[in-house]
Amino acid sequence: MSNLLKSYIKQKHREYRKKSKERIFKGNIVHCTICNSEYREFGPFGKKKRKNAKCHNCGSLERHRLVWEYIQDRKLINKPMRLLHFAPEKVFYGIFSEMPGIDYFPCDLHPNIYDYGGKTKVRKADITNIPFPNDHFDFILCNHVLEHIPEDALAMSELYRVMKPNGMGIFQVPIDYNRDTTYEDFSITSPKARLKAFGRRDHVRWYGKDYKERLKKVGFEVTEDHFVDSFSKEDQFKFGFDTTELIYLCKKTV
Ligand SMILES: [Zn+2]
Repeated sequence: MSNLLKSYIKQKHREYRKKSKERIFKGNIVHCTICNSEYREFGPFGKKKRKNAKCHNCGSLERHRLVWEYIQDRKLINKPMRLLHFAPEKVFYGIFSEMPGIDYFPCDLHPNIYDYGGKTKVRKADITNIPFPNDHFDFILCNHVLEHIPEDALAMSELYRVMKPNGMGIFQVPIDYNRDTTYEDFSITSPKARLKAFGRRDHVRWYGKDYKERLKKVGFEVTEDHFVDSFSKEDQFKFGFDTTELIYLCKKTV
């Protein structure tokens, strides 16, 4: 079977699965803040199958919908700007690559894994050695990346370096709020041992409550925003938010 035919069949399967899920979850109880679709409930997602997690239309998860709502509420990306996006999530890529006035730079160490098919190419970039000049970006989005990077302080200082003075960024990571300090042990290297120690086969640490301090150390002014608490319990369910997630808004003050 040719590759073209294989990808055609895969695409048709995807469309069929999406349509049948949309039928099963038909309703107007939950609302996706990204694509505005409404359903009876979002789909389950993750190893432990979290309930009310994934949008049946755009594929957004809890964290995407919360961050997007935050960006809109705080009007963080509402004017012409240069935007750096690490490990570009598809739901955001779709928005930023089409947004007028946004000079958009989606980047990853492995750009080939992204087959979004949009007009903006995903560029190769190592977050510990970002291939852009100092003071270059107005806004940086870098979600769920730093927990994969052994030299995360170097990555944070690189994000700081390429950010314009008064620029801002959102850098979300998984955090275990039961830990006062971040747990890392670089002698743990096998995927199996990392899964046991850090919850995922490709994570190198569990961040703790000191995540904010780690960002501050490289120069950022950090707002740890309990934005999700500004919604009623009903709306938290309606938008499918993770009620424990805080937003980390980082600013390069001058
Ligand atoms: Zn959606």
